[in-house]
Amino acid sequence: MKKKKIPLYAKILIGMGLGLVWGIAATPFGLAEFTHDWIRPFGTIFINALKLIAVPLIIVSLIDGVSNLSDVSKLSRIGGKTIALYISTTVIAITIGLVLVNLIQPGKLLSQEKQDYLRENFAADLDTSITAAHSTKDTGPLQPLVDIVPENFFGAAADNTNMLQVIFFAILFGIAMILANKEKIQPVKNFFDGANAVILSIVDIIMKYAPIGVFALLASLNIDLELMAALGTYSLNVVLGLALMVFLIYPSLLKIFTKLKYTTFVKGILPAQILGFSTSSSAATLPITMDCAEKNLGISEEVSSFVLPLGATINMDGTSIHQGVSAVFIAQAFGIDLTLSQQLTILMTAVLASIGAAAVPGAGIIMLIIVLEAVGLDPAGLALILAVDRPLDMLRTSVNVTGDSAVAAIVASSEGELMKVIPEPNQS
Ligand code: ASP
Repeated sequence: MKKKKIPLYAKILIGMGLGLVWGIAATPFGLAEFTHDWIRPFGTIFINALKLIAVPLIIVSLIDGVSNLSDVSKLSRIGGKTIALYISTTVIAITIGLVLVNLIQPGKLLSQEKQDYLRENFAADLDTSITAAHSTKDTGPLQPLVDIVPENFFGAAADNTNMLQVIFFAILFGIAMILANKEKIQPVKNFFDGANAVILSIVDIIMKYAPIGVFALLASLNIDLELMAALGTYSLNVVLGLALMVFLIYPSLLKIFTKLKYTTFVKGILPAQILGFSTSSSAATLPITMDCAEKNLGISEEVSSFVLPLGATINMDGTSIHQGVSAVFIAQAFGIDLTLSQQLTILMTAVLASIGAAAVPGAGIIMLIIVLEAVGLDPAGLALILAVDRPLDMLRTSVNVTGDSAVAAIVASSEGELMKVIPEPNQS
């Protein structure tokens, strides 16, 4: 009898389940040190491998994708749709967060004692976050635009937090290839075609290791159930917002704009969602998101290689919901009632904050400081929610990845480039 092969996503799910159980049990069973010394490094190796491939992947696949576009007008059409969809979904996400937190009012449930306790306990963590946010903030209004154009290519590519600069260079390179003399650039084109195939094959190799990597990451999380329970209502509020996005907004958008069944969509991108959850980083997940979009949803490389790297960097629906809920929650916990115009300020700054947030663990909470300061709230209020940020970060990153993929599917469908070839599910 032929042995049935367990698909990769099932192996990753098993790794995730075992990792969570280990993460909860490690401390009570006295295994915390063992986990830290002997299990955690395997998770770090996995994340390093993903980060390692991120910059080469963006450069090669974006140059390849853009240069394959027949003309610059197609690029600006796809670009326009992508940005419009990214901004719309972000605004919808923050609005959902704001409406929910105003209805549920989780902040009003916190006792004064609990607030004091949390504030004292996380003050040290907070100082670092506040310094980091200020270094982002102390610049002119056009600084984000200036930051997109790198002054040195290698400087930009040497640092995984400068993805937007790398994207800028790759798009410029791709456009130049469309405009240049076809014959002359043919060798360059062949090179990028080949390099793209090599990089995708590296991604496949890394993915084979994913079940172990995911297990190790979750096992070393040190999950503190008591604290999670204390901030349960707030967390549930965020989770409810995220769930609305995943179970209502994305299915509706896909239904309106594509012929793709939502179950097919979710099944296709499940490995990317799980990786987003385990790594808390959309950037680290990007190689897999692209792999799933192309192989499992049949999104053309042309679309996925443009829409997804950009989305991982600027489109964060999960982070947006979290920003809306958290800002109002902190105000409630301090006994401050925010006016409608203050809530609108939250909406606007949260759009910018989610665009500006790096696609790495904990970036959302750093950018939250800017939102809090915009409505005159003491950023020290962050201390209240730092304790539960990691699990929420895992969930929101998973939603961020889902949002990018949904937009990629919609853009691809509008270009007639979705499910062109009915793909084999990715089982490698
Ligand atoms: N970790 C998130 C991401 O990579 C960003 C955040 O902290 O919200 O998408």
